[in-house]
Amino acid sequence: MFFRDVYGHDELKRQLIDAVKSGRIPHAQLFCGPEGVGKLPLALAYAQYVSCENKGENDSCGQCPSCKKYAMLAHPDLHFVFPIIQKKPAGSDEYCMEHLDGWREMFATSPYFNLDKWVEEEFSSVATKQPIIYNCEGNELIRKLQMKACESEYKVVVIWHPELMGAECSNRVLKSIEEPVGKTLFLLVSDKPDDILPTIQSRTQRVVMHALPEKVLADAIRTKNSNADDNQIQYAARLSKGSLIAAFELLDDGANTFLDTFIRLMRKAYVSDLDDLINLSNELAKLSRKKQISFLQYCQHMIRENFILNVGNQSLNYMTNDENAFSSKFARFINEKNVWQLVDELSKAEFHIERNGMSKIIFYDLALKVMTLLKK
Ligand SMILES: [Zn+2]
Repeated sequence: MFFRDVYGHDELKRQLIDAVKSGRIPHAQLFCGPEGVGKLPLALAYAQYVSCENKGENDSCGQCPSCKKYAMLAHPDLHFVFPIIQKKPAGSDEYCMEHLDGWREMFATSPYFNLDKWVEEEFSSVATKQPIIYNCEGNELIRKLQMKACESEYKVVVIWHPELMGAECSNRVLKSIEEPVGKTLFLLVSDKPDDILPTIQSRTQRVVMHALPEKVLADAIRTKNSNADDNQIQYAARLSKGSLIAAFELLDDGANTFLDTFIRLMRKAYVSDLDDLINLSNELAKLSRKKQISFLQYCQHMIRENFILNVGNQSLNYMTNDENAFSSKFARFINEKNVWQLVDELSKAEFHIERNGMSKIIFYDLALKVMTLLKK
């Protein structure tokens, strides 16, 4: 992984590179920040740079033996610890290294992926269980770290989602951080850093990563998907709240699917078509929870935009052409008497779905409220 392939975070990259050049390399770092901002890619670009035998001003060389092995995540001094779902029968130990091929493949497809995607790709057959870092991983790590580095100055341990380590494993990792054997770099990558064992937290230096700006997201989408049109790119960049993973998902969902569903919800609620509102609620309940939440966020965005359109602030309008075509007629129904209540109801529905409420009921209840509010 090169620094240049990590989207955004220019300032952080500079700091990491400068630290390596000046020889001030902290031995345990915690890359933290929201999902989808590129924590794992940045940690790996950093590790590759540390190991590179011919470091450039701004990036690793890509040509030396170390870089070539890093490109395949196959460097003998690079170790990974990540959550898995045990496929073997209970009582037998299963190590994340047994899933290394899947891990490399996942990373090669796109280094921007989340735990859901990892579970879906690698463990679909047993995906009803939660992924964790099993306790046996702690001893395995200690064993590996006692061996000398094979080829590099540093051994690098990347722990992805360290908050999913059990107590016993956390304590082993803590011990390895406190009493490192030789030169070892620990790179922890987490979107829930506060859930990590506090004594581990206090021994790591945080590399804090923030949500990506819309422009960086739009550029990233353009690079990856040259077929996407500007409307779709704008839409995905704006609604993804700084997460590249969310932006790619929104792009896959297609902007118009959500718009069509939004139009249907508003039209049927306006004419009080209860039968179709039930059908619609059932259809929405069949989507993944993540998509249900994205749809509700999309609706909130559309309600706000329509209100802005209605009060005449055309210049603040952030809609695609298709959205504008519908909104030019619909905006007059969204006014100061109902806008905040509508947004509030949509956000409450989002809250309940996040907490595993019954989607069918939540959507139908929401539809009934929209029906009343549209007539205000
Ligand atoms: Zn190199």
